[in-house]
Amino acid sequence: MKLPSPAELTERLDPLLDVLADHFGPQRWWTDTDPFEVIAGALLVQNTAWAGAAKATENLRAAGALSVDGVLGLDELRCQELVRPSGSFRQKTAKLKAFAEHVREAHEGDLGRMLRAPMEPLRRELLGIWGVGPETADAILLYAARKPSFVVDTYTQRALERLGVIPGGAPRAALRALLLEALPQDPWQLAEAHGLFVRLGKSHCGSTPECATCPLLLGCRYGSGGSLREAASHSRGRSTHVGHRGCQVSLHLSFRTNVRNLRTLCLLSAP
Ligand code: SF4
Repeated sequence: MKLPSPAELTERLDPLLDVLADHFGPQRWWTDTDPFEVIAGALLVQNTAWAGAAKATENLRAAGALSVDGVLGLDELRCQELVRPSGSFRQKTAKLKAFAEHVREAHEGDLGRMLRAPMEPLRRELLGIWGVGPETADAILLYAARKPSFVVDTYTQRALERLGVIPGGAPRAALRALLLEALPQDPWQLAEAHGLFVRLGKSHCGSTPECATCPLLLGCRYGSGGSLREAASHSRGRSTHVGHRGCQVSLHLSFRTNVRNLRTLCLLSAP
């Protein structure tokens, strides 16, 4: 099996994302989070569960160190103590400090200026910082800089392989380039799509898949072998979820409509 064309992938992803959006509702990852907090989270979550990274981020916040200057002002041992819940705390401390030092040296400490750079040069710059690999760089681009990148992680790749959308073992760089051609060039939609794949991976499509209760079962080659469009029409119109800041949103809608609604709610409720 070879990689599909961008048009073929769009045709397959649209109904799949409709089903996931209808089933899980808006994911709203880091929609109004400070960019340095997003970056710290992206570094601290490497090779660990989110709960540990979240606790370490909270420790940095409580210590007044959740910023470029804050991290630079911490001595090594204090930083290690704060990030210990995220595991590999010596390495995570070194990564946080390497990132903060880069912002200080290359951008006079101005993270906002760094994140305003065009996407591909910024991606190359991020990949040049010690501790930042492709997945972390794309998370920073998408969630901290709000640029139209896509985070190809294990959850996404595993689900797409099992669904029969892509062949097994495709290089992640090729997969990212293909997904960026197939999906809308809109960071909100790309963030929602990534959030939905992660949600699917955590709830159903983990290392041991829970196919019997999966919303994509009807359309999954691994799970059963039906059609994605059949799954979309089967589940559409059943879910209601609590939206941004408590608003009720009825999600009898497509993935793209959900994203439009979510963006409107965020704008309406912005201070
Ligand atoms: S049906 Fe099973 S293999 Fe297919 S996406 Fe769902 S959990 Fe994964």
